[in-house]
Amino acid sequence: MTEASILQCNDFQAYVADITHGSSRAFGVWLQAKGGVYRPGREEESVVAYNHYLSCDICKAWVHNQIPEDFWVRQRRMSYYCCPSMFVATEESDPIDSVQFTFALIRDEPCWLIEGKQVYARFCPWCGGSLPSAPFIKQNEV
Ligand SMILES: [Zn+2]
Ligand SMILES: [Zn+2]
Repeated sequence: MTEASILQCNDFQAYVADITHGSSRAFGVWLQAKGGVYRPGREEESVVAYNHYLSCDICKAWVHNQIPEDFWVRQRRMSYYCCPSMFVATEESDPIDSVQFTFALIRDEPCWLIEGKQVYARFCPWCGGSLPSAPFIKQNEV
């Protein structure tokens, strides 16, 4: 390895740690956005960093160790939903400060419940998408 590439790896890792404040979740988002998440004024740096990542096996391995597997599992599950808000309302809502959506079959009719009430919601209140007539993720699908 040349000295120049060592410098680039250090730069890449320092850049990512800087823009994500050491948060593995923010890091995962940066990766998924293919370097498209950046601080204003640092767009070019972000592109250079992402290109370095793509071409460097050392940094790919480093990245792999930075982001826990559960981040990727959560991202995969979220991709089945109409939007991240519905994912949270269905899978991660807590009873105190978020809305809960649940799917149930009521007398064989598909029904989306809000806060446990059988309201037969048809559309997502966040993105406006039609709600499916089954859970977003079927059992054992993900
Ligand atoms: Zn590297
Ligand atoms: Zn939605």
